[in-house]
Amino acid sequence: THAPVNVTVTGAAGQIGYALLFRIASGQLLGTDTPVKLRLLEIPQAVKAAEGTALELQDGAFPLLAGVDIFDDAKQAFEGTNVALLVGARPRTKGMERGDLLEANGGIFKPQGEAINAGAADDIKVLVVGNPANTNALIAQAHAPDVPAERFTAMTRLDHNRALAQLAGKLGVSVADIKKLTIWGNHSATQYPDIFHAEVNGKNAAEAVNDQNWLENEFIPRVAKRGAEIIEARGASSAASAASAAIDHVHDWVNGTPAGDWTSMAIPSDGSYGVPEGLIASFPVTCSGGSYEIVQGLEINDFSRAKIDASVQELSDEREAVRKLGLV
Ligand code: NDP
Repeated sequence: THAPVNVTVTGAAGQIGYALLFRIASGQLLGTDTPVKLRLLEIPQAVKAAEGTALELQDGAFPLLAGVDIFDDAKQAFEGTNVALLVGARPRTKGMERGDLLEANGGIFKPQGEAINAGAADDIKVLVVGNPANTNALIAQAHAPDVPAERFTAMTRLDHNRALAQLAGKLGVSVADIKKLTIWGNHSATQYPDIFHAEVNGKNAAEAVNDQNWLENEFIPRVAKRGAEIIEARGASSAASAASAAIDHVHDWVNGTPAGDWTSMAIPSDGSYGVPEGLIASFPVTCSGGSYEIVQGLEINDFSRAKIDASVQELSDEREAVRKLGLV
């Protein structure tokens, strides 16, 4: 077995945190031979609730859980951390302008970026879940100049998993039969789930579907609006599925993607596929040895091009907005 890995979770007392912490403690984040030390960050009002969750974690008697510490100070919470899951964010509330939302999140992700810069371990990997995730990741990254930029990522894995499930349902196959699906762009309603390079039991998925109407008018909007569908049905936003996707994202980043497949991660663009450099956009990626690479050389048809461009434009606009606020 390894030495314990320090994992910091922000918003630990929230509903995603509640689902996430038990999965981490059981070894599903990093693997069943890696002990973890949890470092929970919460706002002062939520520390008591986080302490309650820590009692339940203790009661889980997880052999891999080497300790749980709770903080309301970012500098302390990120001290020596190897994996940071930034879940806590300021949600958009009724009547809130986008600028106000970005500013409120700037107040959270700027100090967290600074704290990561100051104290995290050299191998720090950051996943931002809290929305607007891509731009929150950009803000944190901008305040961590000593950390390699590529260590800041945002989550589109839930969108990826939702798309896999919808496509599998349509074709009457298992999700395990589908490979090489891609989410492009922003984790927002403009995201583009791309099945043109996906394979179903080795055959092209778009050809297997052969239904442009379903693709445009059912599949894409259903994946993009799945969050609202969950709220409608459950009376609360998706939490366990978001936590599960966060586990998948970090697990694959650390342990690698399977041969012959890829996944979707929002990562700083290197200019691939015409996405402006530096934007934190979702791409098809493969992971190995603890790092990731954008899958290169995919042919992008006109339909996909327009969808990718629209989502990337939204990311550019968000970057411009946080630039104006002096947050990046
Ligand atoms: P959740 O745990 O349900 O959600 C947390 C964040 O994840 C939200 O920004 C949410 O965005 C986002 N998210 C991303 N993908 C999804 C998805 N697919 N489904 C649902 N949410 C998604 O929120 P809670 O309100 O239950 O808990 C938040 C916690 O964070 C609170 O305990 C609060 O105290 C804490 N917090 C901590 C901070 C810190 O540690 N410094 C700062 C701010 C808050 P969206 O709402 O847009 O869906």
